[in-house]
Formats: sequence, structure tokens, C-alpha cells
Amino acid sequence: MTGRGTGPVVVLVEDEPQMRRFLRVALEAEGYRTVEAPTAAEGLQQVAGHNPELVLLDLGLPDGDGVDVTRQLRTWTTVPVIVLSARGQEGDKIAALDAGADDYLTKPFSTGELLARMRVALRRAERRDTPADAVFELDGLRVDRERRLVSVHGAEVRLTPTEYRLLALLVQHAGKVLTHRFLLAEVWGPGRTAQTHYLRVYMQQLREKLEADPARPRWLRTEPGVGYRLHVAS
Ligand code: CA
Repeated sequence: MTGRGTGPVVVLVEDEPQMRRFLRVALEAEGYRTVEAPTAAEGLQQVAGHNPELVLLDLGLPDGDGVDVTRQLRTWTTVPVIVLSARGQEGDKIAALDAGADDYLTKPFSTGELLARMRVALRRAERRDTPADAVFELDGLRVDRERRLVSVHGAEVRLTPTEYRLLALLVQHAGKVLTHRFLLAEVWGPGRTAQTHYLRVYMQQLREKLEADPARPRWLRTEPGVGYRLHVAS
């Protein structure tokens, strides 16, 4: 392990030495401690050995792919996993998210973006370890999950049961990108995972009810080709 201090431990599973170095330098400048793993097998070993706070996982590894690594990790750990994908790996990226990865960054990405995504993932992991609050609040959006009441800046918003289920899922996973497949299976059932137009329609309705400017949503963000996320400030 390298890096001084007592910051969160991050395992970097990445086979390109230059990319690993970029990640290590960027993270250690922010006080993170890093553990490097150039292969899938070593990545799994290092996660088991160091019990890190977060994993950055390249999708294309010499001895396997990040989707398999994610799947294996999820059999025993809920550690946040952010997938690093190259252009053209869209299918793998979605498969990794469906396998339980928390987020993704497409190369090339900026240090600022990387650190912001990491902060969101770490905060979400922290929240997961504490009992969920019945009331979720985010800059004026309020969702009372016990009473199923939604309001925006104090004004109650009436949602249909399907709209509410969709919003409740996004709230439950605030900050995390949720794939079309996941949302469709959770809201409409496992037989409907191809019906992405359902999602488009309901997401549009939700935006019209909740967003000040539905065309430029503040909370209900589209992840093109992947899914949706409830945006939280990083
Ligand atoms: Ca690679």
C-alpha cells in the first residue's frame, strides 16, 4: 500500500501502468491510500487482503474482464466499485453495472470528475451502513418513505404508484447510476426489461412534476445509453 495518512484505501485494478500511475498520483494528492493490481486475479486478492473503502476497476484486463471481477466481488462484499471503461465498451459497462458496480467513468476522464464520483460513492456506502432515514431530503426535494409523500420546496406533489416506485428506487440509490434493465425489472417486473420506452415516458412525467425545468433536469439525470441517476451534489 502506498500513500501517507489515514485516508480511505482504494484498490486500483488496472493493467496500464500509465493509467495506474495517473490514478495513484491523483488519489494520493487527496490523502487516499492506494493498492495497485495489474490483473483481475490480483485485484480480487488485494480487495480480500486490504478490505478497501473503494475499488477502481478497469474493464479490460489481461486475465479476465471487469464484469467477472464485479460479479465475484459481489458474492462477498458491498465495497463501492467504480468501473473505468474505454469507448466502445458500452455493453461491458452496462453488464458491470448490472453485476453490481456502482458507477462508471469513460476514459479519458478528468481528475475532478473521478474524485467527485468517488466522494459520492463513499458517502453512499457510509449511508448504507446506517439505518435508512424514512425521510429523504435533497435541495428542496423531499420524499417521506413512510407516508409515501413527495414535495418540492414544501409543495406536495401527487405521483401515481408507478411514478412513486420509480422515484423511490432512485432515492434509495441516490447518486448511483441505475441501468434500464434494473429499473424495468424492479418497477415493471423481470419480463419487461426490454421496454425502455416505459421508462422514458415515466421519467418524463416525473420530471414534469418535480423539476423546475424538465428539459434540463437537476435531479433526474439521464445517463445516455445506460440508464438514470438521481443526481446529488458531489
Ligand atoms: Ca485495460
